[in-house]
Amino acid sequence: MDFIDLKSQQRRIRGLLEERIRAVLDHGQYILGPEVAELEQTLARYVGTRDAVGCASGTDALLMLLMAYDVGPGDVVFTTPFTFIATAEVIALLGAVPVFVDVDPETFNLDPDKLRLAIEALRRKDRSLHPLPEAALSAQPKGLIAVDLFGVPADYPELESIAEEEGLFVLEDAAQSFGARLHGVPACRFGHGAATSFFPAKPLGGYGDGGMCFTDDEAVAQKLRSIRVHGQGSHRYEHVRLGLNGRLDTLQAAVLLAKWTLFEEERRLRQEAAHRYIALLETHRPDLTVQRVPEGVESVWAQFSVLAPTPADRDVLRERLQRVGIPTAVYYPIPLHLQPAFAALGYSAGDFPVTEDLAGRIVSLPMHPYLDAEVQARLVEALV
Ligand SMILES: *Cc1c(COP(=O)(O)O)cnc(C)c1O
Repeated sequence: MDFIDLKSQQRRIRGLLEERIRAVLDHGQYILGPEVAELEQTLARYVGTRDAVGCASGTDALLMLLMAYDVGPGDVVFTTPFTFIATAEVIALLGAVPVFVDVDPETFNLDPDKLRLAIEALRRKDRSLHPLPEAALSAQPKGLIAVDLFGVPADYPELESIAEEEGLFVLEDAAQSFGARLHGVPACRFGHGAATSFFPAKPLGGYGDGGMCFTDDEAVAQKLRSIRVHGQGSHRYEHVRLGLNGRLDTLQAAVLLAKWTLFEEERRLRQEAAHRYIALLETHRPDLTVQRVPEGVESVWAQFSVLAPTPADRDVLRERLQRVGIPTAVYYPIPLHLQPAFAALGYSAGDFPVTEDLAGRIVSLPMHPYLDAEVQARLVEALV
């Protein structure tokens, strides 16, 4: 059994995929061909932003947005320690200081009250209020990156109001949440800009790497398009800023346009599979806590994650499933503040107790649109 089944989907649209790929082979515009613009327009319309800018990965989408907001040395960017490394990596790569803020124990997303405390601690340069890296004490708060973990949008109404009071930008790391909604508003519409990923395992995944930035700000969109091509200016060999080779491949855009035809249906199928899991677990394993989906939120269930009562219970659960050939995954076993790559920030164990607790007890079950009810029932039976 696959943790994520990409084959069933491919069987349904194989002909369309081949047609889309053949069209690229025929026109030969492999770099920024017409499919890239078509995908940008299609997804911008779906999300409801003025612009969408395709790029080489979700990581590049985040990096390009930070570059568009001129993040660099001397800046602090707040984010969560309970996410994939890319979210904080891009902050540090630009020479800014990532300041971690613990998460809500039920939604696993950035906790707005703790963000307030972190901002206050930084303003007063008081590390007893909130754990701060030494380097943050001589830097200025500039923005925050919220993450929509496992497909649940963060608390944007609260986060955006704090950011506005403090004059910070807000970026939405929507790598896992394309297709989710918060009070009817699609993910990728929140904050000043959003980044999503088309890594094959994400809700809208290609057959390789890819990503996209979303923004309502025309000037930011222009900057992103320039950054994506080595800071290109008015012509190909004029460079008005430093940039990247951060383009989305035409072939990936073609694959994504074929997959897009199934997306709304797959979104519904994911919801149905998640609700079957929830009902089964309530009956057979009420001791497992499913990630909370707050009122007004439609998760896209990039992952179906539960908390075991203890780390030892989690190990037992994983072993039982492994014995019957069912894979599980742990996202994320090492909180970012404890990653060797961030040792220079000087954080230590105990700094973010909610995240550390979650990292020890979380486990994700197989999740994809083609998960059938029988398999799910068998899976939960193996847990009793
Ligand atoms: C996958 C992911 C990324 C990075 O996306 P890539 O396309 O793999 O570069 C960033 N943030 C989060 C939360 C992710 O899950």
